[in-house]
Amino acid sequence: MTTKLFIVPISVALVLGACKSNQSDITSQEVVAKQDTMMKDSAEAFEYVSEQFADLRILRYEVPGFDQLSLQQKELLYYLSEAALCGRDIMWDQNYKFNLTIRKTIDAIAESYKGDVNNEDYKKFMVYAKRVWFSRGIHHHYGSEKFFPELSQEIFAQFISNADASKLPLNAGESVKDFTTRLLPIIYDPKIAPKKVSLDSKKDLILNSAVNFYEGVNQQEAIAFYEKMVDKKDTTPVMIGLNSKLVKENGVIVEKVWKVGGMYTQAIEKIVYWLEKAITVAENAEQKDALQKLVKFYKSGSLKDFDEYNIAWVKDTQSAIDVTNGFIEVYEDPLGKKATFESVVSVRDFEASKRIAMIGANAQWFEDNSTLFPEHKKKNVKGISAKVINAVMESGDAAPSTPIGINLPNNEWIRETHGSKSVNLGNIVEAYEKAAGGSVVNEFYYNDAIKKNVLDYAGLADKLHTDMHEVIGHASGQIEPGIGQPHETLKNYASALEEGRADLVALYYLMDQKLVDLGVMPSLEYGKASYDEYITKGLMVQLSRLKLGDNIEEAHMRNRQMIAKWAFEKGQKENVIEKKVENGKTFFVINDYLKLRVLFGELLKELQRIKSQGDYKAGKALIENYGVKVDLALHKEVLERYTKLSMAPYQGFIQPKLTPVMKDGKIVDVKIEYPKSFTEQMLEYSKNYSFLPAIN
Ligand code: ZN
Repeated sequence: MTTKLFIVPISVALVLGACKSNQSDITSQEVVAKQDTMMKDSAEAFEYVSEQFADLRILRYEVPGFDQLSLQQKELLYYLSEAALCGRDIMWDQNYKFNLTIRKTIDAIAESYKGDVNNEDYKKFMVYAKRVWFSRGIHHHYGSEKFFPELSQEIFAQFISNADASKLPLNAGESVKDFTTRLLPIIYDPKIAPKKVSLDSKKDLILNSAVNFYEGVNQQEAIAFYEKMVDKKDTTPVMIGLNSKLVKENGVIVEKVWKVGGMYTQAIEKIVYWLEKAITVAENAEQKDALQKLVKFYKSGSLKDFDEYNIAWVKDTQSAIDVTNGFIEVYEDPLGKKATFESVVSVRDFEASKRIAMIGANAQWFEDNSTLFPEHKKKNVKGISAKVINAVMESGDAAPSTPIGINLPNNEWIRETHGSKSVNLGNIVEAYEKAAGGSVVNEFYYNDAIKKNVLDYAGLADKLHTDMHEVIGHASGQIEPGIGQPHETLKNYASALEEGRADLVALYYLMDQKLVDLGVMPSLEYGKASYDEYITKGLMVQLSRLKLGDNIEEAHMRNRQMIAKWAFEKGQKENVIEKKVENGKTFFVINDYLKLRVLFGELLKELQRIKSQGDYKAGKALIENYGVKVDLALHKEVLERYTKLSMAPYQGFIQPKLTPVMKDGKIVDVKIEYPKSFTEQMLEYSKNYSFLPAIN
């Protein structure tokens, strides 16, 4: 599972104060440039911010210590990075079946355009292009709603007709004109595929989701198809349905498996090619074994093989270099079964790993001292391996928007029997911190004392939150016998409930003296700052990501509001969190941090009970009552206040570029560069790593 970030507000923009420029235009280059200059405190300062458009900001990250790695390690990183990029198009196709057609068209236009780049329509086209590249499709990467170009259909059609026709994904014999007529409604018609993932449980989740995981099959049919395959007595169940598309052919429902020789074979063959190269330079026997098993899985498509791979991968704890590569996260499937392609290639940060290792080493203490019912506590918390890594390459579901923490594998029985690996992406978090501004803190927190606390302490507190969310959060608790996997029992609420559970473990311990005693947190003031941040973001700041009138659908956002709102409501009698309105501005102020901690502990116990007993009804009630609905008046206020800050609410990254230096047909070194242009990187990726055909 991955930890998605909400904006980390640090000090830079506080200096800027309230920005005067308004947000109505598309870019805020001026603001970005200003922040950028201010962050250059020394000559060698790395530029973290590249550009900003629509609701997105493009950042860059560095890989510290790359040059100190051995040639073998650099070579391994290069091969794994190539394997990552070769799977890139799979995510595009998974998000929506026409995404690759649209992207190839956009690429063709951008590459062939010879006109004035300052032409207003072309600028609008490029914003759309960059939004599509960012989201890996025509739906918002986070909110999942379809977004639209700001230029007219007629102008878009002109751009297509001016593009190099040989680069357009035309059907055999199809004219550019016919192609355009076929394509534009997919882009412009709000009734066609309005949502990537619908979580509106009143409607058929599959028929109302644009994701390309099911075709000709409705929700009931899909559930029935997979329910037949569940064997409740199986103590080592595979994650049924994880790596396939479910389709109806001649009235019969079949799975199209993603494997060599199956669906996506063109991309998977390339992934395998590079993984096989990586095997030749593996750091040790465990890593080699894991990579070999991953190749076996890609060749067979068997989910048993995937489990074998995951078990081998968990065992590989000594390597400096690691990789996540495969069909991993199930957030994009409304039924929570089918996984998107994702790869994160990384190298360990030995220094920062000490903090996270300290938490991992005390996992049993945290389990024993948590608020869970005794029967839901793990007696032996096994093999939690925790480390801080620096990302070197991210692809698929992990790029350009990236997780900041990863805890895998997702299969519950493997986690319980063999343990799991938890990582915190150190250089990504660092880049967020350096690039972020403190203007959000300035606007949404109540008084100077709280603002100062959040600015001074929330940075480290956030890191600890992520560490604990992944290491002792997801890893904690056990399910009662015969209940089955949470994705089977809690269905569409499983993700939000699980993220909430992991957050609550972190929140509960952020106000525990244990962290101070372990030497990972200087004082409880850090915990208080993290509480202020969680409540203010959960009840207010995160609403800046939604359009007025929309409810919350994304799992992490749901869980955050659920926790914050529940705690606010349950603590009302004792005024634990106070809602204050001053000069028309709302603030949530914590009056009693210790009582809030008790409330977090109570909710944690309940969420674990829901998971342990598979209590769908109670889980649904919690999410629907606290996590979904948005207070319209408050939302309107947040949007107004946020807009004044000129801060894009979503961020993503340009990836580093690895280039081998060859001599006599052999790699003698690998160079790392940090490209500055998002557009150039997207076009380069399309050119070099586009292996899947457009569906026409
Ligand atoms: Zn998580």
